[in-house]
Amino acid sequence: MVTAPGPSHAAFNVVELIRMKCDRVELSDAQIDWLFAAYMADEIADEQMAAFAMAVRFCGLSRRELDRWTRAMINSGDRLDFSGLSKPTVDKHSTGGVGDKITLPLVPLVAACGVAVPQLSGRGLGHTGGTLDKLESIPGWRASLTNEEMMRQLEEVGAVICAPGAGLVPADKKLYALRDVTGTVESIPLIASSIMSKKIAEGAGALVLDVKVGSGAFMKTSDSARELAQIMVELGQAEGVTTVALLTDMSTPLGLSAGNALEVEESIEVLAGGGPSDVVELTVGLAREMLAAVQRNDHDPAALLASGAAMDVWRAMIKAQGGDPEAKLPVARETDVITADRDGVLQSLDALAVGEAAWRLGAGRARKEDAVQPGAGVQLHAKPGDWIPTGQPLITLHTDTPERFTRARQALANAYAIGDYPPEKQPLILDRIA
Ligand code: URA
Repeated sequence: MVTAPGPSHAAFNVVELIRMKCDRVELSDAQIDWLFAAYMADEIADEQMAAFAMAVRFCGLSRRELDRWTRAMINSGDRLDFSGLSKPTVDKHSTGGVGDKITLPLVPLVAACGVAVPQLSGRGLGHTGGTLDKLESIPGWRASLTNEEMMRQLEEVGAVICAPGAGLVPADKKLYALRDVTGTVESIPLIASSIMSKKIAEGAGALVLDVKVGSGAFMKTSDSARELAQIMVELGQAEGVTTVALLTDMSTPLGLSAGNALEVEESIEVLAGGGPSDVVELTVGLAREMLAAVQRNDHDPAALLASGAAMDVWRAMIKAQGGDPEAKLPVARETDVITADRDGVLQSLDALAVGEAAWRLGAGRARKEDAVQPGAGVQLHAKPGDWIPTGQPLITLHTDTPERFTRARQALANAYAIGDYPPEKQPLILDRIA
């Protein structure tokens, strides 16, 4: 009997591959496939893979290497297949920001247009919130579904937001945990392959990427965000997934809240036809792109949002996953209000500082195993361009543990400026890459 060669049968040496990458020598397809197979078989130690990731961070990957790297990551696990559904499928991915609750109104809105949205989301780490943490503030809601439950919900409701199963790109779970503790998250090829391997394995027919730019985002400059977006669009297209990216501003938080239950509350306002104008603008803008990607531009998402049709899908989606859409959301036990110290126009409000304050208040976690406080977070009473009189509340801090207020206030000490003239208005949607 002939057995398929496993990783240990191949004639490659990981130390040699690390040296090659440091010397900017291109790896062959076979070497990349072997690297992942051997890493997943525990034949390469974490410190060796961390050294390889650091070499990639400094020396990058060529386009050919990146295509193969992404393919090897996808092949480390299962690939979902939605071809049996009666509707087209489309998904959206945001590279993460502060107050970014767009997934919550967007998924039911697109589903209300007759398109299925299988959204596999994550939990937050650091200053950016996680969609699952937000939804878990709804009493009874559960993030884990079997593949059968997911399929049934997609067919019946059209909208699913849930945790990825353990079989979806296990190589990314292992590698991301390593990158997180070795300073190798900030690498465009590693970020692009990490995101796109999961999104491609997830199996939606089309994908819209929301690539954030600014202080609260991974990508601080529009040049780096554009490069990341371009690479991810190419990786998606190469795998047959219609992929489009919007570059959107993350220099100031989205909406007026950052924190789990606070963001659910704001999303429900948007689904009820109200809510902050920037959240509505981005929700509708992304919905238009998602519908266009599956040739369903016959619906007007703005009108559907205003009509309450998306709210009906939201309720059905929450109920299907055990949640009570009518239940009262958790509220933090303590609040502390920061007021304006002069009259004037709010000039700026820094996204990173607001994200850090929300995290300090208990809305986020420092380690994967930490619990989050569902009611904790930051509520904003003004956005850049708004006039505020002296003594008016500017920011309310929410937490169950008031000893956290001092650090949160420190995080916000230089987060905003009040001036005499309106600041120059920045567009929210900065660019589109297809
Ligand atoms: N999100 C991911 O899924 N992976 C990264 O590398 C960065 C952000």
